[in-house]
Amino acid sequence: MGGGAPVVVQSMTNTDTADARATAAQVAALAEAGSEIVRITVNNRAAAAQVADIRARLRDDHGVEVPLVGDFHYNGHTLLAEFPDCAEALDKYRINPGNVGRGARHDANFAAIVQAAIDHRKPVRIGVNAGSLDPELLDALMDANARSAQPASADDVLREALVRSALDSAAAAEEIGLPHDRIIVSCKVSRLPDMVAVYRELASRCDLPLHLGLTEAGMGTKGIVATTAALSVLLEAGIGDTIRASLTPEPGADRALEVRVCLDVLQSLGLRTFRPEVTACPGCGRTTSTFFQVLAQRIEGHLEERMDTWKRERPGVSGLKVAVMGCIVNGPGESRAADIGISLPGTGESPRAPVYIDGQKATTLEGAGLAEDFIALVEQYVERRFPVAEPASR
Ligand code: SF4
Repeated sequence: MGGGAPVVVQSMTNTDTADARATAAQVAALAEAGSEIVRITVNNRAAAAQVADIRARLRDDHGVEVPLVGDFHYNGHTLLAEFPDCAEALDKYRINPGNVGRGARHDANFAAIVQAAIDHRKPVRIGVNAGSLDPELLDALMDANARSAQPASADDVLREALVRSALDSAAAAEEIGLPHDRIIVSCKVSRLPDMVAVYRELASRCDLPLHLGLTEAGMGTKGIVATTAALSVLLEAGIGDTIRASLTPEPGADRALEVRVCLDVLQSLGLRTFRPEVTACPGCGRTTSTFFQVLAQRIEGHLEERMDTWKRERPGVSGLKVAVMGCIVNGPGESRAADIGISLPGTGESPRAPVYIDGQKATTLEGAGLAEDFIALVEQYVERRFPVAEPASR
């Protein structure tokens, strides 16, 4: 992680960690959706007591080896000491320096968590959050600002307090003995301009890997858009090593949405490739039937279903580009630019759909079985272009 390695997708469970079966199942679902690190809350003894079992269930029941991060607030120092199995089963500890106690207890509790990380050879994320910023640090900076000849705005002081809390805590962890290359830093805020400013500042003041996230991004399209915008601005500037989309799920909705958003952000930015890309036009007055929307959806569904097998067997298949276009205006151009594309007839065009493969017109489809015929062509293309890998010789 960091130092030019690919940006990693992270997510977090919302099950009760004390329920090992439910938590292991959700971690496995998140990992299967593409999460490369999963964080679980370790908030009390009942939760800490189950962490090793969650790790075992993931391995034995789900065949999943995803790294697990323990999220600690208030009592991490005691839980890690009381439950060495938990300390060992986790792959990383997240410490929020605003939630480790006040005054002298702050330093002692912080040191105890860092010492546990040293003893168990684990990395630590110093995870500052605007909602739980160390009030003593913020008060000190506000007081100093009030006394200065040219006071900064309250927002600027808050941002500086976030950055200072992260960097001072990272320096303290190193002083205790945690190696520099086992520290990750994050400063989560809920407003996009603050997040961008804070991470730009962090990136200019340290060389530690940075975990990005717009905290409490919210529900629905608002949460997805705000998260995407914030991550994109920073990732495009080369800032960020792990990312998370802190979306509030609709009641009963799939938790893995936050993973899919991160995958799509990285793929859209051209930073990583996870699955075949389907280019589909939005449709307009030239597509008065929903036929092409149905076809685009069927193709996407088919690719998603097949990817589970393809990605295990056919190296490079996630780079496949498919186009499903609605009429002659942009249809042939986009279809030629894809690996395989179909240009459906718009309103008033003859009911025939040219198919382009590797930039050349390959055939024309028509009739009731057009969707099945195109899917069959996609299958043939994948078979030819991405052959099944030979097992490595022993
Ligand atoms: S390709 Fe044709 S149908 Fe699709 S949006 Fe453009 S003009 Fe409309």
